[in-house]
Amino acid sequence: MQIAKHSVVTINYRLKDSEGNVLDSSEGGEPLVYLHGVGNLVPGLEKALEGKSKGDSISVAVSPDEGYGERNLDLIQEVPRDRFEDSNNVEVGMQFQARTSAGGVRVFRVLGVTEDTIRVDGNHELAGETLHFDVEVVDIRAANAEEIQHGHAHGPGGHHHH
Ligand code: ZN
Repeated sequence: MQIAKHSVVTINYRLKDSEGNVLDSSEGGEPLVYLHGVGNLVPGLEKALEGKSKGDSISVAVSPDEGYGERNLDLIQEVPRDRFEDSNNVEVGMQFQARTSAGGVRVFRVLGVTEDTIRVDGNHELAGETLHFDVEVVDIRAANAEEIQHGHAHGPGGHHHH
């Protein structure tokens, strides 16, 4: 069986930045189980896994345009402190959700705190990074109708919300 749209795929993975620092890894934990072909992984990684078989290992470099996008400087903003409910407890590195003017919800990270303002960044932490993935395909099965409808894998390693 080869990985195709609506395969449920189990992988071990390691993600490194361009300097070789490990940013994320399934080592020492559970492998990742995901539904292929519906955007659950970044596009460049799904593309690289397409057609692979159980037992295959791949190493792939994913550029920002097929990863988490380029950094958008407009998303780095100085926000007046009084816009925060509890601004005295805001610290660098904290994350919170905020509504955007377009009506969506975006995660912002706190970059800095001054007396009057709080500097936030709405870019994904890995925006602008080339992502270096090492992936081993552990298992592949066909998704069931419910998984396809939900857009994610169920069962061990997948979602447990039923
Ligand atoms: Zn579900």
